[in-house]
Amino acid sequence: MSAPPKSMEKIMALCKRRGFIFQASEIYGGINGFWDYGPLGAQLKRNLRDAWWEDVVLNPLGGKPGPFGEPVRIVPVDTCIIQHPRVWEASGHVAGFNDPMVDCRESKARYRYDHVSVYVPTWAAPLIKPETVGPKLSDTDEGKPFFAFVSDTPSEAKQKKKAEKAHGELTVVALSAVPKALWPRVVGPDAEKTGSLTEPRAFNLMFKTYVGATATEDDEAYLRPETAQGMFVQFKNVLDTTRVGVPFGIAQTGKAFRNEVTPRNFTFRSREFEQMEIEFFCHPSQAAEWYAFWRDTRMAWWESLGLSRENLQLRAHDKDELAHYAKEGAGTSDIEFRFPFTDPGFGELEGIAHRSDFDLKQHQTFSKKKLEYFDPDGGELLPNGAHKGERYLPHVIEPSAGLDRGVLALLCDAFTEDPSRASPEFLKLAPRVAPIKAAVFPLVNKEGMPELAEKIYGEVCKQFAKTGFIEYDAKGTIGKRYARMDEGGCPYCFTVDGDTSKDQTVTVRNRDTAQQERIASDQVVRYLADHLR
Ligand code: ATP
Repeated sequence: MSAPPKSMEKIMALCKRRGFIFQASEIYGGINGFWDYGPLGAQLKRNLRDAWWEDVVLNPLGGKPGPFGEPVRIVPVDTCIIQHPRVWEASGHVAGFNDPMVDCRESKARYRYDHVSVYVPTWAAPLIKPETVGPKLSDTDEGKPFFAFVSDTPSEAKQKKKAEKAHGELTVVALSAVPKALWPRVVGPDAEKTGSLTEPRAFNLMFKTYVGATATEDDEAYLRPETAQGMFVQFKNVLDTTRVGVPFGIAQTGKAFRNEVTPRNFTFRSREFEQMEIEFFCHPSQAAEWYAFWRDTRMAWWESLGLSRENLQLRAHDKDELAHYAKEGAGTSDIEFRFPFTDPGFGELEGIAHRSDFDLKQHQTFSKKKLEYFDPDGGELLPNGAHKGERYLPHVIEPSAGLDRGVLALLCDAFTEDPSRASPEFLKLAPRVAPIKAAVFPLVNKEGMPELAEKIYGEVCKQFAKTGFIEYDAKGTIGKRYARMDEGGCPYCFTVDGDTSKDQTVTVRNRDTAQQERIASDQVVRYLADHLR
């Protein structure tokens, strides 16, 4: 039997209490969909971003070769949040970045149109077609109400009960399949009366702003909803100024903004968030292999950061779920994590999409600048899949990860309860991402212990302070000090005690096991070097 989901309330309380995550503008009552990181959260987020940067940009995949045996080459950029507005026309965001929503006039709730379903009597289901329904159905079923619901919410069971009472045997249809003539008979998911749902309306998810002082329509610009387009737009400059050639990747991390209609689940769906994206360019004939390579490599990466395998899954998109740019080609897969609020289901952490040549083609058309790749080296069939002298638009495999969702997944996975410990709640964060790397304590604040502890603290700082916090704490009982470090996710605490001055040893306490061992006091730095990766 699987364990019950962890409590999101407890995780959020720990995040607040220990300074991981705060509500943005909290003293003004907060602002929906925005979150700030406190001291420990800022460092945790930075460690995750640095781990990605190291494994993607500085030392791609630790030297692991690509699917054709060659080294994987990736170069970074750092592009602007505000781009020329035409970028977003070319990318399809101005026209297509919409989630149609329906509002409920009665309950004031707002729903994604494609998330709302309706229970209809089974006998009537074949009649629910735009051309035949309406009068015909109304003639035969005495105008009874239809009950709408949203899957996986309390409305599902509640509305089912009412619908069964009204109609007997039921069939589920999408609200979008119900002709408008019947909408006055639909009871919204959280409503009591019929006819409360509005027509679906489009909400563009991009934040608008103005560039320049006049703030007219001509000055309108957008905050980027993804970092990807900046990389496509600079594709040619990167090629012309570096020695990379196809296949290669461009990578960047940075803020993205989406005016999400229903921000929820802590930082999972925020309006301001950070992405870590790779656009990997390859010859079209090699796209399938690179797609499979990136999908599996990225999945292994999340696991390497300590996320448990049983809370991770790879999910290939169904054909009808694919984004407009991914309809043709090798497909899209999401790396999903079982968050407490999705349990037993999963929520997206990173998407890996074969975007074909959609973006480069669009920018070539809109900018009227040639973005084709030409391999000057010639040769018959080149190792990159191109033919001698071939000019082509490379295909793109895009692994696109959410940094904030990554932090949230790490926190949820690490959150551990053990009522028998002095720290009944603590964080089993992998040492590589843990914001506090180590702590040094004198058992008591006298008898020469502080001096010895301070010396060790200084040595540890010198070696490890660039990777995270090193704490020194001389106050309170030792149990309380350990508990505080456990809650912050600190993997190792070193304590100088009465024996240290006699035998030059200190204790190391392991956060996960709460066990202690003695090591030589001049081996602390060495111990950490061995254990912090
Ligand atoms: P979803 O279906 O959850 O809205 P998406 O498919 O629109 O996500 P992408 O456009 O593929 O997301 O963005 C890539 C990554 O950016 C996602 O895997 C996720 O980690 C992150 N992300 C997207 N939207 C948000 C958001 N509103 N808040 C936090 N992270 C987000």
